[in-house]
Amino acid sequence: MRSLLKIDDLVVEHRTPGRPVVRAVAGASLEVNAGEVVGLVGESGCGKSTLARAVCGLNRAASGSIAFEGTPVTPLGLRRRTMTGVQMVFQDPYASLNPRRRVGDQIADGLRVAGDTASSPADLLERVGLPRDFASRHPHEFSGGQRQRIAIARALAARPRLLIGDEPISALDASAQSQVATLMRDLAVGSGAGLLFISHDLSVVRLIADRIAVMYLGRIVEVGDTAEVWADPRHPYTRALLGAIPRPDGMGVLPAELPGDVPDPAEPPPGCRFHPRCPLVMDVCRVKEPEFGPVACWLHEPS
Ligand code: SF4
Ligand code: MG
Repeated sequence: MRSLLKIDDLVVEHRTPGRPVVRAVAGASLEVNAGEVVGLVGESGCGKSTLARAVCGLNRAASGSIAFEGTPVTPLGLRRRTMTGVQMVFQDPYASLNPRRRVGDQIADGLRVAGDTASSPADLLERVGLPRDFASRHPHEFSGGQRQRIAIARALAARPRLLIGDEPISALDASAQSQVATLMRDLAVGSGAGLLFISHDLSVVRLIADRIAVMYLGRIVEVGDTAEVWADPRHPYTRALLGAIPRPDGMGVLPAELPGDVPDPAEPPPGCRFHPRCPLVMDVCRVKEPEFGPVACWLHEPS
């Protein structure tokens, strides 16, 4: 598979005057290949959105690197808000749709980015399963699920090689969630693009992702094929996450209860960042960070 996105030891810091520096992304590495869906999961505040924004050139890397198709991603100027080749779909479609403009005109913006003169906004609406005549209407005339389909149509119009969904389904009704997620998967993979799908809904990620990356407090703690991670989660945090959702396959044997909340990223615990909440904590975990993959845990140190 052709590598599309390569994130290597990425650090992104948030600086607010008079407050401690927050390392929202604290040394994360991740790859997305063309035609592949990678699900990025973790509790809110773990740095998923910050990582996504850095990939789009909207956040500056303090260290480490991001390469898209082999070219380093550098922060964009304020006037250029979209990186060619990467499109993002947000949790709130209003973040990408202008409520005052007809949806057809907004999809036409994407077609212009791609230099596509053969397709019409109505064609794109059809591809996302909406009637062609919706083009003349405004975003407020639609349900949340329909609006998200329009945001996807607008993103796809720009012919991205990488599509990023940042919690694109978390504001939708349960019935629309898997439909919209599956649509994103089919459209991205069908056009040979990669999809980085950020969600805290593991059951939907399981449905659409080829690989899962689990993020905790700014770091990727486990990466693997979806089916393998699901059948045999190895990082204690992954186990807890999977244990926290109903398991129709009857695998209810994992620790379901995770004590405590995500610690303040401004003051991450020393050693393994998960150690204050880990039921399997050992002495080494309190002092030394497990800086290796694919499972960043001292119980799974590569030999
Ligand atoms: Fe738990 Fe130690 Fe593994 Fe961290 S490194 S997840 S504290 S066992
Ligand atoms: Mg977020």
